[in-house]
Amino acid sequence: MTLGYDLSDQHAQLRETVRAFAEGQLAPVAEELDREGRFPAELVQAAAELGLLGIPLPESAGGSGFDTVAYAIAIEELARVDSSFAITVAAHTSLGTMPIHLFGSEQQKARWLDDLASGRGLGAFGLTEVGAGSDAGATRTTARLDGGEWVIDGSKMFITNAGTPLSKLVTITARTGPDEVSNIVVENGTAGYDQSQPLKKMGWRSSDTRELTFTGCRVPEQNLLGPRGEGFRQFLEILDGGRISVAALGLGMAQGAFEMGLSYAKQREQFGRPIGSFQAIQFKLADIATEVEAARNLVYKAAWLKDQGRAFAQQAAIAKLYTGELARRACNESLQIHGGYGFMDEYPISRFYRDAKVLEIGEGTNEVQRLVIARGLGL
Ligand SMILES: Cc1cc2nc3c(=O)[nH]c(=O)nc-3n(C[C@H](O)[C@H](O)[C@H](O)COP(=O)(O)OP(=O)(O)OC[C@H]3O[C@@H](n4cnc5c(N)ncnc54)[C@H](O)[C@@H]3O)c2cc1C
Repeated sequence: MTLGYDLSDQHAQLRETVRAFAEGQLAPVAEELDREGRFPAELVQAAAELGLLGIPLPESAGGSGFDTVAYAIAIEELARVDSSFAITVAAHTSLGTMPIHLFGSEQQKARWLDDLASGRGLGAFGLTEVGAGSDAGATRTTARLDGGEWVIDGSKMFITNAGTPLSKLVTITARTGPDEVSNIVVENGTAGYDQSQPLKKMGWRSSDTRELTFTGCRVPEQNLLGPRGEGFRQFLEILDGGRISVAALGLGMAQGAFEMGLSYAKQREQFGRPIGSFQAIQFKLADIATEVEAARNLVYKAAWLKDQGRAFAQQAAIAKLYTGELARRACNESLQIHGGYGFMDEYPISRFYRDAKVLEIGEGTNEVQRLVIARGLGL
């Protein structure tokens, strides 16, 4: 049984390409990368060569020129095998590259966009701080103008992709005045910009997550992204788009967990027959299959609305909330179907189970999604 459906030949071809990459190159090393907590720079470069690091960016900007639906399909396929890798691609694309594509001047695009969209360098987005998580507007990092340069002081927490050997830049939110937040680009290698060692995590162990510090860090005044004081509005727009990719990630994880559970249920025998012949197991799989189908429709609809230039924030939050919770449920039920073997490291479902939790936290917690959805309901 396959749960996938395709919207056009182009989407089907992309799904095939990404699936071949994920199954052929990612699957054989995913467990090892997770155990070693190693960032797979060589695989990111291989994905870049396939055009997977700039899927929804225009070809004129170095990207692959696909739509958001195609991008969601690609993230879904990567997450079906390894969500650590999928978040590396999704954070780079939606959070690292999009701010420059959407808000950058022609000069800024000429300087950075081609490298990012083609995957020659990785981009990161630094919003979260120790004291500013769900309350992202509580940013304490400051940037003041001095002699034609921004002088940045502060820190950012839990930032994806900022410290890898491929990392090129981070866009950070900073206070540029008492009631003013702006986005500023800081290139890797700038004096006064440091990244911690990779943080030790429960899941997503082969993705790169670090704390960043800025100490008297000076960047040219021209690194300001868009008009001064627009940082708050800009990051809300970035997060809305990012939620579609994280929702696609949850969908892919649920699909992967479902397939593992189904295959195990057919092959594992107890009481002289496959465990898939017991109704208790069948019902688990039937429930996940139903929810995955619903999730796919939610995710593709959010992506399609964005592609149509229509309002999509509400749908993206709904998709993100639903798929985050579904990924946790699906991984839990699939692990249950695996019995004790599911608890062992050599079965990928144990990695999926650990990885799934973060989907209820990152890019806005479940509670924050519910706040956004409630606001959309006029409450
Ligand atoms: C692996 C990983 C990668 C990440 N990558 C990035 C990145 O690349 N860039 C970046 O900027 N950030 C990144 N983050 C940060 C992430 O977005 C935050 O962790 C998240 O927004 C939650 O913030 P917090 O951790 O400070 O939790 P808090 O905001 O402290 O929340 C704690 C709890 O309180 C709840 N809560 C808070 N406020 C309310 C409220 N008003 N009503 C109800 N409940 C509430 C929350 O839902 C949560 O359950 C990453 C996080 C992780 C774990």
